[in-house]
Amino acid sequence: MVKPKKERKVLYPPRFYFFKPAGVPSSKLESVNLTVDEYEAIRLADIENLNHLESAKSMEISRPTFTRLLDSAHKKIGSAIVNGYAISIEGGSFVFVNNAYRCRKCGYEWDLKIDKEKKDLKNEENCPSCREYDVENMEEMLKNHNPGYRHGRGGRPWRRRF
Ligand SMILES: [Zn+2]
Repeated sequence: MVKPKKERKVLYPPRFYFFKPAGVPSSKLESVNLTVDEYEAIRLADIENLNHLESAKSMEISRPTFTRLLDSAHKKIGSAIVNGYAISIEGGSFVFVNNAYRCRKCGYEWDLKIDKEKKDLKNEENCPSCREYDVENMEEMLKNHNPGYRHGRGGRPWRRRF
């Protein structure tokens, strides 16, 4: 029996999903994809300065798994910086600790620390900023590998290196 891959706990969604080098024409641009769990590994170890064991506990994975995840993230970011690739952040095996939403109208993002299991949020689903109802769940959005809106005009898919 194949054990299903355990979803790694991620505290908050990334605030930025796409980076590109200046001066590279889009026809020549290639990209690497950093998964959301790799993003969280970078945030915990490099930004929060947690050690690998503390970071692994936060994501509810083993320390060796965390170390592999962080190594993979560093290699991707390194290759992008050195070779001039764009970086997209999406996909991967993850689950947000809190419900996180994004407004499609004004771009406002927020999270609800309450009741992650409760899928039907009713009243809370309007945007707290502009009060519009065009709201998306960021977990679903970032698990979907083709969100489109952030890749700019024309929807041309970037060539992927990984
Ligand atoms: Zn809004």
